[in-house]
Amino acid sequence: GSSTAMLKLNELNERQYEAVTAPPQNMLVLAGAGSGKTKVLISRIGYLIQAHQTSAFSILAVTFTNKAAAEMRHRLESLLGQGTVGSQYGASGMWIGTFHGLAHRFLRTHFREAKLPESFQVLDSDDQHRLIRRIMKSLNLDDKRYPAKQAMWYINGKKDDGLRPKHIESFDPTEQVFLQVYTAYQEACDRAGLVDFAEILLRSHEVLATNAEVLSHYRKRFRHILVDEFQDTNKIQYAWIRLLAGAHGGNVAEKIPPSHVMIVGDDDQSIYGWRGAQVENIHSFQKDFTNVEVIRLEQNYRSTATILKASNAVIANNTDRLGKELWTEGAEGDPIALYAAFNEIDEARFIVGNIKKWQEEGGSLSESAILYRNNAQSRVLESALNEAGLSYRIYGGLRFFDRQEIKDALAYLRMVSNRDDDAAFERVINTPARGIGEKTLQMLRDAARSQNMTMWQAAGRLLDEKHLSGRASNAVQSFMDLIVQLESTVQPLPLHEQADHVIQSSGLKAMYQAEKGEKGQTRVENLEELVSACKDYEPDENMQEMPLLAAFLSHASLESGESQADAYEDAVQLMTLHSAKGLEFPMVFMAGVEEGMFPSQQSGDSPERLEEERRLAYVGMTRAKQRLFITHAETRRMYGQELYHRPSRFIAEIPQDCIYEVKLSTQMSRPQSGYSSGYGEASTYSQNSGYSSSSNHGSSTGHGGYQGDRNKAKSSKNFGGGFDQASSHLKFSESLFSLGQRVSHAKFGEGTVLNCEGDGDNSRIQVNFDDFGAKWLVTTYAKLTGI
Ligand code: ATP
Ligand code: MG
Repeated sequence: GSSTAMLKLNELNERQYEAVTAPPQNMLVLAGAGSGKTKVLISRIGYLIQAHQTSAFSILAVTFTNKAAAEMRHRLESLLGQGTVGSQYGASGMWIGTFHGLAHRFLRTHFREAKLPESFQVLDSDDQHRLIRRIMKSLNLDDKRYPAKQAMWYINGKKDDGLRPKHIESFDPTEQVFLQVYTAYQEACDRAGLVDFAEILLRSHEVLATNAEVLSHYRKRFRHILVDEFQDTNKIQYAWIRLLAGAHGGNVAEKIPPSHVMIVGDDDQSIYGWRGAQVENIHSFQKDFTNVEVIRLEQNYRSTATILKASNAVIANNTDRLGKELWTEGAEGDPIALYAAFNEIDEARFIVGNIKKWQEEGGSLSESAILYRNNAQSRVLESALNEAGLSYRIYGGLRFFDRQEIKDALAYLRMVSNRDDDAAFERVINTPARGIGEKTLQMLRDAARSQNMTMWQAAGRLLDEKHLSGRASNAVQSFMDLIVQLESTVQPLPLHEQADHVIQSSGLKAMYQAEKGEKGQTRVENLEELVSACKDYEPDENMQEMPLLAAFLSHASLESGESQADAYEDAVQLMTLHSAKGLEFPMVFMAGVEEGMFPSQQSGDSPERLEEERRLAYVGMTRAKQRLFITHAETRRMYGQELYHRPSRFIAEIPQDCIYEVKLSTQMSRPQSGYSSGYGEASTYSQNSGYSSSSNHGSSTGHGGYQGDRNKAKSSKNFGGGFDQASSHLKFSESLFSLGQRVSHAKFGEGTVLNCEGDGDNSRIQVNFDDFGAKWLVTTYAKLTGI
């Protein structure tokens, strides 16, 4: 019928069609990357609305990121027509969002039942860390023995598991300490009306679990619940779904039957185990919900056959899998390009060079994504992109609202909005410096704790009772006066003028202006950008009742980089492998694929963590539609250190015939040391390798590149321009040492191979000896042995 045409059900394959058009029931779609799980989920919503006349009002859809939620809304609107999905937050509309976003929305509506003040604020992880540190100090805990970070992990882990201190019994002395911190921390949060991320979910679950009326309201409303990326749900998220769905036969008394739940996921893409996600939820779902129909999808529509083959081969090394193979009808495509960079700067140049070429050949910047394991890797990539004048965007990590100066300004605004916000109080009482030292702060903390007050109240008390020294007393008084004065001045102003006034009058702007160089400049620009952010801000429906400033502050806490204003500008996409989940790009670079980076150092001795790293590799590789580049650097400056890494084991797990090793040309010699400029980058690679990055993907002719000797027949058949895996001017094979390899020398002891150059008798090798530092040796005389 016409609904079929509109929904384009004919685009679906048989299995997908079955899932989309099944009668309302519980369903589990279990399938590998790029097989159309998300597409099925979205089509299913459309189908329910069109073919079953289901009201959008009765649908709850959970996505993994805000970006995915926005995209889903957009796709549904174009599928069903404007207005059908309801305004983003309108009561008639569908609930689409992340677990945190939806639960936060729920708490805003039910703050009373949740025993929260109406203007409760969301505490981000940075603020949470500070608050915990402060509490541990006031409990006189040694921060070497009991690091605040560890306490924070403990608390969040317990919350993710749905546990309050009263539920936990421990005989382990260390855990008892953390438990004591958890208790004190929770008291402080409750006193100040602060809610951390894990608390959002736990608290909303508690409201549902203890408030029959609220629960039955939502059960009546949400007849259909759909969850994407289900493999990464944690215990409390799963409990939340179970409760809302009425998994155990619904509500008999009120005759509310259980809701229909569709979950889609892939156990091979479970990458948040370290954060409490439980892939076992997939199994639990089949037990806890009745008559679950399991649907498997096996055709991949995203990637080339080569990328798919390589990804399948890598993930096959994991033992703990539900097991599935993906196939594709797609083209063979180009081989995966592997580049061994000299250092991280060379790596960044190589990547940028290839993006430039892509652009020159008519591609857009936003079609390329650079994925990395650690956030810190972005800095060098960013600077290479800047140098080349290419726009880029970072998802996650360096979010605008996470930047120091922005958080300072927000903390002032938070103080203006709520005096009892201890985290904000701590952040700005001495920023800019007003001579309030650690000793005074400690007195305030102690007083707050012992008298069960907020820091603001404690400060007032100490001033009244003249407990502070003259100087400290003046400083604290002037801070408090400032806040009171800010409040009365800004109250009648529009939001953006409030922000502007606070930024100026607090002295923040002057402080950052005084900071020398580009950094200070950027910070000032960011502060200015905050004023624009306020200008652009419109509160959603649930927050319209509260003061605009408080609403904006909540929005700022929840907002992540993924929905910044420049989201639609054509720009290279930078993100961690974790935040790439669910996304796809024509061209993907995976940078820093080195032992010690990826898999990470920490995962080294744990088989489970290693498997999770491998799943992350699988996620990364399967983001690529047409082109995949994998790079690693022989030396890397990071965290202020010089690191020497071998190529990642994941590279070795890719079948040889899927890979093309990009080598520098024979005319070019590598720099002999450090960070000298002016060599290589992508031009040598394109001129000499003949590995085309032009748009004729998958073509087997016309690249005119060179053919490697050994692989000639095979490569020309399999991979377009062909390639040579063995030839290299670096002659690693002759010296039998690979870069990054550990070697031993009679005099200098053990070290790591950094570099090689020259041929035969002239070949030289650079080794970084553990005890003697980096040395160039003539390979034939060096008599190195591999270890
Ligand atoms: P991931 O596990 O990475 O989240 P997924 O299983 O959710 O992947 P989708 O993102 O839904 O996969 O789909 C991958 C790509 O394949 C998308 O571009 C989608 O439009 C396309 N696709 C899915 N099914 C079909 C189909 N039947 N015909 C054509 N294209 C399809
Ligand atoms: Mg998906």
